[in-house]
Amino acid sequence: MAQALARRRARRRRKRCGACGRSRPATGFYRSAAAADGLDDWCKECRRAYLRRWIARHRAAHRAWTRAYRERNRDELRAYQREYQRRRRALMRAGRWRPKAA
Ligand SMILES: [Zn+2]
Repeated sequence: MAQALARRRARRRRKRCGACGRSRPATGFYRSAAAADGLDDWCKECRRAYLRRWIARHRAAHRAWTRAYRERNRDELRAYQREYQRRRRALMRAGRWRPKAA
């Protein structure tokens, strides 16, 4: 209970990024179950840049991880795709499908 309250309070306040040092609102951080306040120590921008570099340097490991993830969550991913395509077809029939610009 106290933990849930702490997390809710954390979502409202600002936090300083441990990498770039800039202060940002809580929405500028990814959630992290491992962190005491429930937010990543680095802002989204820094985390994304770090992951991009990590993936570029560890292509084989990243490929293995994504493959294992897909296998582990095959049923869930399949159900998500089925639902997404069902909604897409319904929107297309209604003429309201707006694909995101690439
Ligand atoms: Zn940052």
